[in-house]
Order: sequence, then structure tokens, then C-alpha cells
Amino acid sequence: MRVADTPQLRFPAFPIICARIMQIPGHIDPVITGTVPLRGGNRVDLVGLTRDGIRAALEGAGLDAKAAKLRGKQIWHWIYHRGVTDFDAMTDIAKTMRPWLTERFIVGRPTIVTAQVSNDGTRKWLLAAADGQEYEMVFIPDADRGTLCVSSQVGCTLNCRFCHTGTMRLVRNLAAGEIVGQVLLARDALGEWPKGTMAGGADDEDDDAGHYTADGRMLTNIVMMGMGEPLYNFDEVKSALKIVMDGDGLALSKRRITLSTSGVVPMMARAGEEIGVNLAVSLHAVSKEVRDEIVPLNRKYGIEELLAACAAYPGANNARRITFEYVMLKDKNDSDRDARELVRLIKQYRLPAKVNLIPFNPWPGALYECSSPERVRAFSNIIFESGISAPIRTPRGRDIMAACGQLKSAATKPSRAELDRIAEEKQAALG
Ligand code: SAH
Ligand code: SF4
Repeated sequence: MRVADTPQLRFPAFPIICARIMQIPGHIDPVITGTVPLRGGNRVDLVGLTRDGIRAALEGAGLDAKAAKLRGKQIWHWIYHRGVTDFDAMTDIAKTMRPWLTERFIVGRPTIVTAQVSNDGTRKWLLAAADGQEYEMVFIPDADRGTLCVSSQVGCTLNCRFCHTGTMRLVRNLAAGEIVGQVLLARDALGEWPKGTMAGGADDEDDDAGHYTADGRMLTNIVMMGMGEPLYNFDEVKSALKIVMDGDGLALSKRRITLSTSGVVPMMARAGEEIGVNLAVSLHAVSKEVRDEIVPLNRKYGIEELLAACAAYPGANNARRITFEYVMLKDKNDSDRDARELVRLIKQYRLPAKVNLIPFNPWPGALYECSSPERVRAFSNIIFESGISAPIRTPRGRDIMAACGQLKSAATKPSRAELDRIAEEKQAALG
């Protein structure tokens, strides 16, 4: 499917919401800040708002406090429990009120630019935001689970040397609605919304509880491992995951959600306290020299600081281990010595840890090669022998460039001159 008439960065022609996109601390890349045009014209997209935000939006549009509370609760349930996008289908809301809602609000979805299926069943979607910015999401089906790999930013400012996403020139944070929107869209695509109707029961939310069951769903887990560094977009990621975990809605348990960070140390404690999901840390090297080279953020937050933050991560224990991701790069970080040093560090910091060994996934122009299968196996064995689990991740969706670190939108990148023009237009639009 191609996007029809998606506005490409022509900000002033569209109504604008402000300030949800913050400046990203990073070193070189241009970051689009400030404004994102609304998808539904002047209408407010309810996806991504908190329960209270929906109530406030309804009250702001003219409902009295009591009605806003009741309707807000009903609409929330339709959006997140039923996957309904059309107010006309919200059958417990008075018929006369539905057009009133349609005039003022939308229940949005990202636009699908392309959808691909790998020969191993992995699916990848290239999505477009209302401002034309593109980002990707991946679904990985397994025998006992289905994992959705969700993006937190368009691109990434961190430029890890082995990661395709890090080479994108334009970066902006995704808003909470754009993050939750990925989960909603995946449920749409997988046909996983409950069937049945709510006919007959004005406020009875359980009237068709017997018609479906949450068991047997394909989408069971979420990993924040798509494009971007989630802890550089903390507020929006937090709001989105709170919605995803809300019991009256998508209701995914925090134990089924993993947030992966390249090591934004100052935000890690807050992530544990305020979001509480599983933590994965992209360690990838055990010496300052190598980690400085392949994960440049290491120059700011070094290995010791990072491991100390892991040791202090709220909620980590032997039942909920921290995952250390380690990409296997030939002759760079894959020696027996590296493996032994990794074990030593994990023991020194007494970390409840498991190690996930990721064979390097190649992309056009990449500077590295993947370690040989024998090397990866030997590395894994050393860690296993010390009593720490170190499975080797099977690459998924490589044929459609959907594997770890291969995500990069194919959108044409504007030149510097175009960027300057866009900035000027934005400035003019803001008055
Ligand atoms: N920005 C976050 C999450 C997204 S990347 C982070 O870096 O943790 C998800 C994982 O894939 C990270 O561990 C990342 O380092 C790894 N990765 C990136 N590029 C890769 C590549 N080309 N091959 C294998 N893994 C890669
Ligand atoms: Fe960004 Fe993660 Fe890629 Fe590094 S590995 S550039 S932090 S997305």
C-alpha cells in the first residue's frame, strides 16, 4: 500500500500541535523539534491521551464534568479494548452524540506505507506520521509468543557504528500516540480485537465477555527495540507504555514488556520506578576503548557507571533479570578474553543478568562483519560455563531488513538547504 497524499514536511499548511516533541540530547544530527501537524485536520486524536486527558478533551469540547467522565470511560474502552476507530460503532454512546464526537475527535492510526512479510514469518511495516516522517515496526512470531518491536523515535541520534538506524540524518521523537498507535495497528493487522458487540448494555462493559478470550493471541510481548533510544524520549515512552499496560484495554503485563537502552544512565532509575518494565542494556563491549568506538554514548556514560545503574535498577532480581545485549562483531569484541571479562564484570556488580548474543546483522555500507558461528558458540559457552545464561539470538526477518539494527526508513532525506527552508517555514508558521 502506498500513502496517499501524505504531507512531506510541509508544516505550515496544516494545523499544528506544539511542544510534544522535545530537543534530544545528542551530538550531531539535526533534530526536528516543535510541531507535528494533526492527522484529522482540526480534530483531536484521542490515541495517546491518558484517561484523564480524554475526559478533559471532552469537557473542553463542551460536555459537563459528569458526562465527560462517563463518555471518557466508554471511549477509552472502545479504543483500547475493542480497537474501534469509528465513533459510529460505539454502540453504548447515544446515537445523537456520535456525530458530535466525529466532528471534534478522531481515533487515529499511523499510515501504512509498506508492509512486508519475511520468509520466516516476520512482518515489517513502514509507517508514516501525519508530518510524513517515517518509522518502522516489526512483528516476530514464535511458537510460544509473538513479539512486537516498537520504535520510539524516527531515526536515532546516538550513531552506534554497527546500527543502520543510527545513520538516519533526521531524527524526531515519536509522540505517545504514535508509539501506542503501533500496538493498535499491529492488533488491527493480526485481527486480534475481540469480536462480538456491546449491543444491549448501555454501560455494561462485560456483556459479551463470554464471546472471546484473551488467550491464544499472537501479540503477547512488546520490546522497545525498534528505531530510536527510548530513554531519550522518556515522557512519551512512559505515557505510551502506561496505556499499553492499563488493565481496561491492551492490558499487557509489565513482565511482557522490555525496554532496551544503549545506556542513558541518568534515566535508568526513573525507568524502573516509573515504568517498571524489564530492562535490556546494549552493552556490546567490555573495554572503554571498544565501547567508545562502537557505542559512542559510552564516552558520556562509561561501563562502570552503566553497570552500577544496572545494579541499582528497581525491580531487578533473579526472577526478573537484566538482559545484556551483545552484538557479535568479528575481531572487534568477540574474543575468549572479552567473554571472560564480561563474566567478571557481571559478577563484580552482582548483577541478576542474562546475556543475549546477537549475531551482527549486515546492512549496506556497514563497517563490520559478523563473527563466525563457531566464535559465537565459543563465546556463549564461556559465559554459560560461569553459570550465566547466554543464548544466541536467531536473526529474524533479515531478508526484509527487519532484523535488529537493520531498520532505517527509505524516505528520501532532505538536503541541508531543504532543512533550512523547512525551519524557516516552521518559524513563519509559528508567527
Ligand atoms: N536504541 C536501543 C534500542 C534499539 S536497538 C538500544 O540501542 O538498546 C535493539 C538492539 O539491536 C540493540 O541492542 C542494538 O544495539 C542492536 N543492534 C543494532 N544494530 C545491530 C546490528 N546491525 N546487528 C545486530 N544488532 C544490532
Ligand atoms: Fe540508536 Fe540503539 Fe541504533 Fe545505537 S543501537 S544507534 S542507540 S537505535
